[in-house]
Amino acid sequence: MSKKKLTLPVQIVIALIAGVAVGLICYFAGVPEFTTNYLKPFGTIFVNLLKFIVVPVVLLSMIDGILSMGDMKKVGSIGWKTVAFFLVTTAIACIIGLVLGNIFNGAGWFPTLQLAEGATWDKATSANFMDTLIGMFPSNMWEAFRTANMLQVIIIALFLGGSMLAAGEKAKLCKDFVGSAYAVIEQLMTFIISLSPIGVFTMMAWVVATQGVEILGSLALVLLCAYIGYAIHAIFVYSFAAKAFAGISPLKFFKGAASAMIFAFTSTSSAATLPVSKECCHELGADDEIASFVLPLGATINMDGTAIYQCVATIFLASCCGMNLTLGQMVTVVVTATLASIGTAGVSGAGMLMLAMVLTAMGIPVDMIMIIYGVDRLFDMGRTCLNVAGDISGTLCISAWESKKAAKK
Ligand code: ASP
Repeated sequence: MSKKKLTLPVQIVIALIAGVAVGLICYFAGVPEFTTNYLKPFGTIFVNLLKFIVVPVVLLSMIDGILSMGDMKKVGSIGWKTVAFFLVTTAIACIIGLVLGNIFNGAGWFPTLQLAEGATWDKATSANFMDTLIGMFPSNMWEAFRTANMLQVIIIALFLGGSMLAAGEKAKLCKDFVGSAYAVIEQLMTFIISLSPIGVFTMMAWVVATQGVEILGSLALVLLCAYIGYAIHAIFVYSFAAKAFAGISPLKFFKGAASAMIFAFTSTSSAATLPVSKECCHELGADDEIASFVLPLGATINMDGTAIYQCVATIFLASCCGMNLTLGQMVTVVVTATLASIGTAGVSGAGMLMLAMVLTAMGIPVDMIMIIYGVDRLFDMGRTCLNVAGDISGTLCISAWESKKAAKK
């Protein structure tokens, strides 16, 4: 009899339920230290692996993205319109995420966590915008990598990617190296993400056992906050854009995009949803050639759901470690989350990996991710669904702009 292997999503759901159950048992039995001593260490190993991979992923994926933009010159105006559409909608997504996060936080719905046995999180530091700006520019490249200073890593990626483009043919070896190294890192990332069930189980058990039942309510609230953001962005930004620029009514837009959105919701991968998105764009009347360019680019750099999630999660985790973000820091969150979402790969769980980068940039301890990691899949379903809706809406708008331009000619 052949054994059927459980798929990763099923493993994660089982791990989530088992983690909550074990956490509740330890909580009510009054032995939360069991989870701290014997389960949390495995969660820590998992978070260490995430921290270990985040610098190479950000560096290589951003350089790779910049190099592919160089090719975009060939496609001329379509390329820049696409990037502009994606950047503007992502920045709006960040603002929606921040506003909602602040509303929920202001209403006192996000908790400040008490840590057992006088433990503390690493000291959260707060910096103002000018300090952040100065701190963005590295004086030593290796120091930036060593300390995982993500803003500096992004600047290094921008400089190196831009210089490789400028160097043209002479940089061929470097460009090939980046492509090849990125493929290796992606494999490693897939492996680390396949260990998620262990991370989900151990962290969920530890969080519930040490924080009590109330933490489940807080997690439900932060999920609700993100989903309200996803819905607002989809309804107001995407359907407005499709109506205003492509003349497609919101109802028609959502009906047409539904199959891709549902596929994205269940697969949690924009990249895997590409064929379905393409079919939807075709049905909605977009130009096939434009769809072949905009959709893959969107699945790589356009992640509005991820941006909303990162903003909401940052405010939630800042609140958990007793930190209130200043206005300058929120601007930093918008910039970092926009860049982080661009650097997020269109695969399951990648957005959470990039959350580590936003947290590092804000001086929030990356270990805080453990608190929401257990329910990340639930965030991921919604954010991927929104990411894909954004790619489809972008395709429709660019396609309409191009056909108007052609008609004028
Ligand atoms: N799963 C998302 C996507 O493929 C990325 C993320 O994790 O935010 O679009």
